Amino acid sequence: MNWSELSFGYLPTDYNVRCYYRDGKWGDLEVSSSENITMHMGATCLHYGQEAFEGLKAFRGPDEKIRVFRVDENAKRMQTSAEAILMEAFPVEKFKEAVIKAVQLNKRFVPPFESGASLYIRPLLIGTGPKVGVQPSDEYLFIIFVTPVGPYFKGGFKPANMVIMREYDRAAPHGTGTIKVGGNYAASLKSGELAHKMGYASVLYLDAREKKYIDECGAANFFMIKGNTYATPESTSILPSITNKSLMQLAKDMGMTVEKRPIALDELEDFEEVGACGTAAVITPIGRIDDADTGKQYEFATNGQAGPVCLKLYQTLRGIQYGELPDPYGWTTIID
Ligand SMILES: *Cc1c(COP(=O)(O)O)cnc(C)c1O
Repeated sequence: MNWSELSFGYLPTDYNVRCYYRDGKWGDLEVSSSENITMHMGATCLHYGQEAFEGLKAFRGPDEKIRVFRVDENAKRMQTSAEAILMEAFPVEKFKEAVIKAVQLNKRFVPPFESGASLYIRPLLIGTGPKVGVQPSDEYLFIIFVTPVGPYFKGGFKPANMVIMREYDRAAPHGTGTIKVGGNYAASLKSGELAHKMGYASVLYLDAREKKYIDECGAANFFMIKGNTYATPESTSILPSITNKSLMQLAKDMGMTVEKRPIALDELEDFEEVGACGTAAVITPIGRIDDADTGKQYEFATNGQAGPVCLKLYQTLRGIQYGELPDPYGWTTIID
């Protein structure tokens, strides 16, 4: 395995972990070496989008130990997602057990510390029972697969450019934006592809109702820094990012003021550093945001470098994830 050449793609590993909900109860965790699943063609996940997923990572530290980051937060978020679309929630303890099992069974795929790579963990929950009318399924499948992924920033921690396009929304107020369901991603594919073709990393979505407030940046949360303040948008269509939650804590620990509130697009030019955050990259610093509708440009980074606060937050969070820095909040679970 050429660890340093890995990208963010799927590579087969040895095993996946599965659990079935049938006859009103969850069964035992099962281990499978097959990459395929069979299900009824009338399954609710296929027709009515009854599906939710999660994404987290395991890291090998300089001490050779494997750490998983904030697994209980992902477990709880998947329960919230399940309840919002009437799926059977997967128990938190069982979720943790399944994550640990999936990592243990695929230990040889956890990249070495020096590579900067990690093991991506993908839990999935789907409605598998057939329904023709629009109803929740009676049967569910929970599955976890893992795949090694490369360091997000191969050419260094460099700023990316984003674009605002008002004719596309990712999620509606009080819709499904706050839960991690596939439909939100389907809704963002077209605008995301368009942004890529135009040379941008992602779309910066505004609130769907008024197009006045900043919502999310592609499939990542958005945050802004000005002086001693870390600010991040609040709305009824933003997915609660565990990375953002962690960065807010770290910013507080650094003595910063943390604000979670609606942030108008008008305020963008007042900020010194802005970035997107999520499990995949931790932080993507943003160099420039172009408003494709008005032609206005918002410039941030100087000389193509990430700002000092973004860099400090990034290094601190990564340090905790890899076990290089103390973990005062017990965010990591060590896997033997
Ligand atoms: C998963 C996701 C994020 C990032 O969440 P993390 O827990 O930090 O990985 C942000 N926005 C959307 C829409 C997401 O689906």
